[in-house]
Amino acid sequence: MMLPPSLEELITESHPVRIVNQVIDRINIDPLLKKFKGGGTSSYHPRLLLKVLVYGYLNNTYSSRKMEAAVKENIHFMWLAGMNKPDHNTINRFRSERLKDVLKTVFGQVVELLVEAGHLSLKEVFTDGTKIEAQANRYTFVWGNAIKTSKAKMEDQLKELWAYAERIAAEELKDEAPQSFAPVNARQVKDVIEKIDRVLEGKPISKKVKQKLQYAKKNWPASMDRYQQHEKLLGKRNSYSKTDTDATFMRMKEDHMRNGQLKPAYNVQLSSHNQYIVHYSLHQNPTDTTTLKKHIDSFNALYKQYPQVIVADAGYGSEENYQLLANRNIEGYIKHNQFDRAQRSKNLDAFKSDNFVYDKQRNVIICPSGKPMKSIGETYRTTANGFKQKMIKYQATKCSGCPLREQCHQQKGNRIVSINHRLRKLKQQADERLKSERGVVYRKRRPADVEPIFGNIKHNKNFKRFMLRGLDKVEIETGLLALAHNLAKWVA
Ligand code: SF4
Repeated sequence: MMLPPSLEELITESHPVRIVNQVIDRINIDPLLKKFKGGGTSSYHPRLLLKVLVYGYLNNTYSSRKMEAAVKENIHFMWLAGMNKPDHNTINRFRSERLKDVLKTVFGQVVELLVEAGHLSLKEVFTDGTKIEAQANRYTFVWGNAIKTSKAKMEDQLKELWAYAERIAAEELKDEAPQSFAPVNARQVKDVIEKIDRVLEGKPISKKVKQKLQYAKKNWPASMDRYQQHEKLLGKRNSYSKTDTDATFMRMKEDHMRNGQLKPAYNVQLSSHNQYIVHYSLHQNPTDTTTLKKHIDSFNALYKQYPQVIVADAGYGSEENYQLLANRNIEGYIKHNQFDRAQRSKNLDAFKSDNFVYDKQRNVIICPSGKPMKSIGETYRTTANGFKQKMIKYQATKCSGCPLREQCHQQKGNRIVSINHRLRKLKQQADERLKSERGVVYRKRRPADVEPIFGNIKHNKNFKRFMLRGLDKVEIETGLLALAHNLAKWVA
């Protein structure tokens, strides 16, 4: 070569790096720029760092050290970074600190560009979730149930010690008994132990009790403090990992050991259209059912509109979600857990209370023998999201002597069933919608639209574990993955 070629010549016209460059150049990054104070030493332009990160995630390069190496030796990264060489600290600080609260709007702008280009629509979305392992040690767990058990044990032991002290010095402990031995905080535990210690001082007590009291004085208040801290971090969850306190232990589908091991993870919810990611949200609870509200409300916060149609699998089919979609005026195509079984079996199970006929005029349920079951009261249940469910109990009048008794139930007296009328109505509406011509098309499209995205991220892009720790940072990583996925698909 007489003259060394320029990078511009070496990069083909249709190379993905050019699309990343063009798209990020078209995006308004004012909210990101506002995060930089100005002054100080010269820094790399945020747009440049954003391009490097998005292109890194597009190329399965997730580590900031590998990106640092790439901007020095990979011509595509060198061209994209304009021969700048940010180091891994700069890249990582930008990713985990500067992109916080900003990346979602950047992602939203890219989706809107895709909408303008006619590649996708925000009106119709397919929603599903997957669990991605957290960057946390899977053996440093804290379990909510274990804390409850330890506290209950402490309560029992406190009661025992108190009863012992009362036997020895009942007069002194008169009017001193705490309202409850169930420990709420360290102060309360300390108070009770001090009272017991005071009255037993100098009295002939067994060596075992003396040792127990010493141990309690030394350890229990500190343990209570620890339990309180754990409970604060747990919130409504039942577990967390000490190395990433935002991660919850979840059962993973792709468990290569197939031993059903629980791993610290996050629940990633995605909505897609034409295999593009339209929206994403991160959750700390393992079940998909309770995630829909937050997911669609954040969709609305981003795009100032709700989708008109949501298609999702039976994991989302609950009374709360059906009602939520009805309240938001969204057409939901969501199966409930009995939909597939009902489709497969020709005959309905006549003894299942879900299939009993309701006579609205008489307010009775008709049991399999054709006799009316009368209403005997109501029960209420509140879901994890605070949604109230109302069930009405109906009881048969005379089951003894009924020829169907053996097949019908195993309850002791007359059969009692709980019926949720609102859920029955919502399920019926869902059935009608799912069985309609449009419903059949959506049901066929759903697994081919959103599920391949998970396959692409986990297998093609080999992203099986987050690189960063904490909910905010993990959300940034998901955003970068989603951006990279959409741009790669756009290029394709
Ligand atoms: S056993 Fe009771 S509830 Fe069942 S069919 Fe007979 S009368 Fe009805």
